[in-house]
Order: sequence, then C-alpha cells, then structure tokens
Amino acid sequence: MDARLTCRRCENTPAPLDWCCTACGAPLELSDQPPFNADAIRSDDWTLWRYADMLPVAQHVTLGAGGTPLVETAWDGAPIWAKLDYTNPTGSYKDRGTEVLVNYLVAQGIRDVVEDSSGNAGASLALYTAAAGLRARIFAPTSAPAGKKRAIAAAAELVEVEGSRADVTEACLRAVESGAAYASHAWSPFFVSGQQTLAWELWEQLGSAPAAVVMPAGQGLLVLGVAHGFRALHAAGLIDRLPRLYAIQSAACDPFVRGFESGAPEPVRVVPGPTVADGVVIGQPVRGEQVLTAIRESGGAALRCQEDEIIVARSALAQRGLFTEPTSALTAAALPQVRAHLPPGETGAVVIVLTGHGLKSL
Ligand SMILES: [Zn+2]
Repeated sequence: MDARLTCRRCENTPAPLDWCCTACGAPLELSDQPPFNADAIRSDDWTLWRYADMLPVAQHVTLGAGGTPLVETAWDGAPIWAKLDYTNPTGSYKDRGTEVLVNYLVAQGIRDVVEDSSGNAGASLALYTAAAGLRARIFAPTSAPAGKKRAIAAAAELVEVEGSRADVTEACLRAVESGAAYASHAWSPFFVSGQQTLAWELWEQLGSAPAAVVMPAGQGLLVLGVAHGFRALHAAGLIDRLPRLYAIQSAACDPFVRGFESGAPEPVRVVPGPTVADGVVIGQPVRGEQVLTAIRESGGAALRCQEDEIIVARSALAQRGLFTEPTSALTAAALPQVRAHLPPGETGAVVIVLTGHGLKSL
C-alpha cells in the first residue's frame, strides 16, 4: 500500500498532490512507512527495488537505480570506502529519490510535472519522466553547468531562468499555480525515502554499519535519507550503532556548517558565493532543521571546505580512477577534518559518497 502524506506541524490532512502543507507551509512527511525487514529483501534484484517491501510506493517504472559499487581505496595512507553513486542511471545519486517519486506520480495518474534544479535533480527527473511517459518542464538557472542543461534538454523542456537559485524556484512555483504537479526533490518526502536505500546497501555491502558516512550537502536530503535508513536498520535490531554522518559544504555556501557551529536548531541562511561545487548551492535548505538534527544525533558534524581543497581532491579522486563532478570531491576534501573529528582508535569503515559523475561537468 502506498504511504500517505501527513503534516507533523499541524492538524491538516494533505491531498495526495500537495507539495507542502497548505495550512502551515511545512514540508510534508510520510505516514505508514513499513519497518525494515531483512527477510523481505529480494535477493535476486540488484536495484533499489531489492527493498521494495520497505519502500512507500509500488514499482510501475524503473531505470534500475541503486545497486552501486562500493570500492575500497586509500586516502593519506588510511583506507576509505567510496560509494560510486554517480554510476546511477542518469549519473547522480538523485536517481534513488527520483525513481521513488516518479513511481508515486505515476500511481497518482499525473501527466505534467515541473521541477526546479541547478542540474542533477533536473536531469534525473527529465529522463525518468520520459521513461514513464510524463511531460516535464525543468526550470534551471542560466548559470547551471552546460552538461547538466544538455542532459535535461535531451528528454524534457528546459526553461532557463536568469538570476539566483531562489528566482528559479519562484518561476517554477508560478507554473505550479497554473496546474502542473510540482515534482520537487527538495520538498517531496518520497525523494527522501528513496535515499534510504543507500544506507541499506552500505549495510549489506560492508556487513555492518560503517563508522562514518561523508556526504556533500546542499538541501541535505542525502544526509537525511541515509539517517532514516540507518535508523530503520537500528530499529530492526540489525546494527548496534548509528554511523556518524558528515555533511560537507563549500565555504562559499555553508548554512549547515554555520548552524552546526552556532548550536542553532536551524541552518543559518546565507547568500551563496561562487563555487566549483555547483551541486550544493542552496542558501536556505527546505528541511534544514531536520537535517541538522540528524547530523547532531549521529554524533557527526557539518564541515566546510575551501575551493582549492575541492579542486585538489577532485583531481586526486580521478588519479584513483574515480571521475566525479567537483561537488562530489567535497567528501574527499573533508577527510582530514573527518578523521580529526572521529574518536581516537576508531577502526570502523569511513565511507565517502561520490554523488555525481564527472562526465556532465566536462
Ligand atoms: Zn501543516
């Protein structure tokens, strides 16, 4: 049975296609999510539908997201694991969330969708809606990387918007008012639900929970989904500790880091500066408070990297055969800080999630 939308902040009961709570404006959550059940894993399926019984929607369409490689390598002389989520069908980790979200939209009988994105989420939705026979209009900033815009335009209508990332969202919301469904990776809880599968795969691939998972953070929804995923494993008695979650941002756009450092419950809103990490340029994350809480509860941290560190780390990843977009290199760039933050003597696995393929950034 598909999960229902609910608002945790007020008494309102959302309609199936509301993208936020129409009464209080809060992001919506899912009720009736099935608990994790190891006996229900479909061991002959190598996509995220391996966990179909734990997902909030039934499968109508798939491009085979999930099942990405976990590769052991070394950094500064110590072992690390790299989760190659850039090998997903459209070249980014977003496909996990998109695959779950699009299946919900298909089940709801939707024909027309809109989305705003700086690149990877738009490309993911463009290609998935094409596969599902839906029409999509994707709003992206003119300044978005050319390779990402070409990937969007290959399968959907690309609407380029001059101005800030917030201006792009505003243009998209005007289209929502005229009747299209808002397939928002930032707002939809179905998107977050799909990201849980990354945690479940790490648990299966490593045979236990890692000590730390290091991820780039823009909206922070990968961090949030992975936190939900490990919590579900813990609640099922399958792991005895939760990994420390590290959200890594560019110093040019670091709302989570500022919130984390200040002890505030929410990220500190920033006006983003220029950065090579174009995938995480979000000055005011939609689910910021939830993400910050998840980082703190895990015992991890929000950390920032400088531009030169990101560029050097991207090159160092490529020298190991790992060809990522600059945003993904935030994770490797932050490894010295992560190691300094981990308790002395920690010997568990440290995983960096490589989120976006290098090819779209050529
Ligand atoms: Zn509400």
